[in-house]
Amino acid sequence: MKTLKLDHIGIAVKDLDEALPFWQEVMGLELVGTEVVEEQKVKVAFLPVGDTEIELLESTAEDGPIARFIERNGEGIQHLAFRVENIEEGIAFMKEKGMRMIDEKPRYGAGGAKIAFLHPKSSKGILVELSERE
Ligand code: ZN
Repeated sequence: MKTLKLDHIGIAVKDLDEALPFWQEVMGLELVGTEVVEEQKVKVAFLPVGDTEIELLESTAEDGPIARFIERNGEGIQHLAFRVENIEEGIAFMKEKGMRMIDEKPRYGAGGAKIAFLHPKSSKGILVELSERE
């Protein structure tokens, strides 16, 4: 598996409008877009920084994964996403290494990426996302 870079850091927030001023006005990042990913019940805001990106995640439903994360842990870093050259290869490699996958098949991720999550039990408590983008 070829890991190319840290694609983005996913941060769970209760409210994008409340979270954005810190990232824009204090950290000086630019908001380049937002997207609702229905399947994940999440609204994502993209703020590139250097070669990577901050992605703020607001739940669009009370039972969504981000809402549940905030209930358990409060707001904060929810996952780290690594850009891989080929996601199918990445998933196969992880399974070969005995890693537990949440997604055995790639699914749609924000920004048109193909993504798959590793189970955090396999990655020492960090929710790791593999991401392939054009
Ligand atoms: Zn992500």
